[in-house]
Amino acid sequence: MRFSIKRIFIVFIFIIILPTAFYSIYELSSYRKHELVIESIYGNQLEAILFTVNQYSDELLNEWGNRIDASAKTREGRDNTSLNRLMEEYPSLKLAFLYRENEVEILANSSDSLDFYRQQAGNILNKETEEIMKLKDFLENDYRKLQPIALSPGHVLVYFIGETDQKLKVVYGMIINAEKFINQTMAPILQEISQNQFYISIYNENKNTLIYNTDRNIEPDETRYTTALWLFPGYYAAIGLKEINISNLTRERSRSNILFILLVDLMLIIGIVLVFKSIDKQLKLAQLKSDFVSNVSHEIRTPLSLIQMYVESLKMNRVRPEGKKQEYLDVVLKETQRLSGMVNKILNFSQIEKNKKKYHFTPVNLNEIVDEVLTTFSHHLENEGFDYHIHLDQELPYIQADSEAVTDAMMNLIDNSIKYSPGEKYIEIQTGQLSGYVYFEVQDHGQGISEKDMKHIFDKFYRVTSSDLTPNTKGSGLGLNIVKHIMDAHGGDIRVHSKKGKGSRFVLNFPLIIDEKAAGF
Ligand code: ADP
Repeated sequence: MRFSIKRIFIVFIFIIILPTAFYSIYELSSYRKHELVIESIYGNQLEAILFTVNQYSDELLNEWGNRIDASAKTREGRDNTSLNRLMEEYPSLKLAFLYRENEVEILANSSDSLDFYRQQAGNILNKETEEIMKLKDFLENDYRKLQPIALSPGHVLVYFIGETDQKLKVVYGMIINAEKFINQTMAPILQEISQNQFYISIYNENKNTLIYNTDRNIEPDETRYTTALWLFPGYYAAIGLKEINISNLTRERSRSNILFILLVDLMLIIGIVLVFKSIDKQLKLAQLKSDFVSNVSHEIRTPLSLIQMYVESLKMNRVRPEGKKQEYLDVVLKETQRLSGMVNKILNFSQIEKNKKKYHFTPVNLNEIVDEVLTTFSHHLENEGFDYHIHLDQELPYIQADSEAVTDAMMNLIDNSIKYSPGEKYIEIQTGQLSGYVYFEVQDHGQGISEKDMKHIFDKFYRVTSSDLTPNTKGSGLGLNIVKHIMDAHGGDIRVHSKKGKGSRFVLNFPLIIDEKAAGF
């Protein structure tokens, strides 16, 4: 049996424990990798949001470019009202100009320091010949690129190639107050994008100053993803998740994943232990059953061969003295009783197992049953050399019980006391009452039961086999199991007090349900 348990255990290890352990280790070791992937996906999404911020500025400045371009064409007819309107609409636009033949020609302006910016623009564009050529090539290919150049302080020059109405390619430019643009024009769009989920801040790297923040409470050092503003050199946009940051998020996810894996492992281990225990129990039960079959066969064969032997002798008339004949007949009777006792026990057990055992409750006085049982047993007790003492409570009230089943229970206990008292052959039988119940008890001074066995003696088929005191005691391991079942059916219980080598006391407690009629009240 041990061998099969070992085999099952090995199969368990290979089929369940090893793969699960490998899976758990793999999951635990690779979770950081997964989390990094998730982190980078989050990062890409945040960067995509920043991309839209840049795209927005690009589209807006392109629209300004269109308006400058268009007004410059009509400007040939000297009409710059649309440009003035553009400047009123966007106060960050300081100056719009046309640059040709190394000269800056103002189209519209809102600044007092006009000359300062005009000069700066002229100086810069004079050196940008190469870049201007490139932009012209782009335009040939239908792509109008806006080219930004940082001006100090806090301004930016954005220029692009346009065409006059005579199809001449010229440079148009605008000077924008970057910080005003960010705070007035970009701010609403940044608020809309952030939607209370992200914080976005714009800062100037050169001056190391925060220009705009969608949420004033958040420190700029919490920033996670940064991108340069395409059209505002030196300015950067940074984005982060509000309240939780990505590493917290991924760390939390990892923690709950690991917890989940550990929990599943724990459940698996508990499951395996339970399955293993149940298999172990089944194997033990199978072993007990097989022992039971051989015990019972032995118990049946012995009285049968005795009966056969004595009946044959009687039949052949070989037994002469009349006294001897009587003795043989007594043995036959005793063995027949033993056989029928055994068969009754098995039938009882089988009915209990199938839940078919029926009890017929009537008002019963335990003392009367004890008298009957002792009449049956007295001969046996004397034959076995037992001394016994009986103390019956004469005031014992009636109880509701199945007298046949109670008789069986008492006989089982007394029979056990005889069987397991190899040394001191003295038994005490007692009935009595305590608050709420009446009891029957039998006490012997026999071999007793160890604490370890005490836990199992009420299990079906269980027998203490290792006893060196009574090595040949016969039994089925069913008796106490049946007694326990009978007591459960009566709403009572069975208790055992025993010490190895000192003897045992078994007590049957019946609940006291007073039947007034039976008691004669
Ligand atoms: P069995 O047919 O083996 O007697 P039981 O179910 O009646 O089966 O008892 C189970 C086990 O309990 C016995 O094998 C025995 O070891 C132990 N036992 C029962 N009664 C006593 C007792 N009075 N003294 C010592 N051991 C007992």
